[in-house]
Amino acid sequence: MRWLTPGGLVAACAVGVGVTWGFGWPGLTLLAAFFLTGSILTQMAERRGPNRSARQVLANGGVALVAALLGSWPAAAGAIAAAAADTWATEIGAFSPFPPRLITSGRRVTRGASGGITVLGTLGGVAGAALMAGLAAALSPRGTAPGFASLTGAGVAGMLADSVLGATLQGKYECPACDARFERGRTVCHEPVRLASGWRWLDNDGVNLAATLVGAAVAVLGSHGSPP
Ligand SMILES: [Zn+2]
Repeated sequence: MRWLTPGGLVAACAVGVGVTWGFGWPGLTLLAAFFLTGSILTQMAERRGPNRSARQVLANGGVALVAALLGSWPAAAGAIAAAAADTWATEIGAFSPFPPRLITSGRRVTRGASGGITVLGTLGGVAGAALMAGLAAALSPRGTAPGFASLTGAGVAGMLADSVLGATLQGKYECPACDARFERGRTVCHEPVRLASGWRWLDNDGVNLAATLVGAAVAVLGSHGSPP
């Protein structure tokens, strides 16, 4: 399982309770599918990152929580599809035999670098979005839109937004004394790192939040385009 800090656990419970309050068991089932598949993939990729904080949990689940409190199933499903696509892309991309390339310029970047994509990871992300979309379409309260295609598109759009923002506006830092680059501002290499590109306030959590917002927005637009 992907471990949580105490604050992360509280945040995860808040998202679970909120989504269940908003949509009942269909909402909880969709959220659980996202959480369990993401945790299994993380364990398969044998990635041992730091425990997830409340900030990280809300970056992935906050939009779904707000959508649930507002009663918008399309927005919640789109946000969860986007979060799943991004998680699946990251974890399945870890198995890529080729190093990632930046989504914007195609330049090779180190594994795990924000904005870097692989063919395998992208296909994995599409599969993750499609799984959540199929589940959401099947569970959809009152049989409402958006359908499978719209939700898959919403998830993929969120994943792409995540990569583009990660490659462009997310703050990237460098050591003044060597060539090392970092994604965290409060890092000391030979010296404290300095901003090399992007926005200082936009970190990986902010990018995840924006990506789930894109997923929610695309799903809402898709639901308006469908017949009632
Ligand atoms: Zn250095």
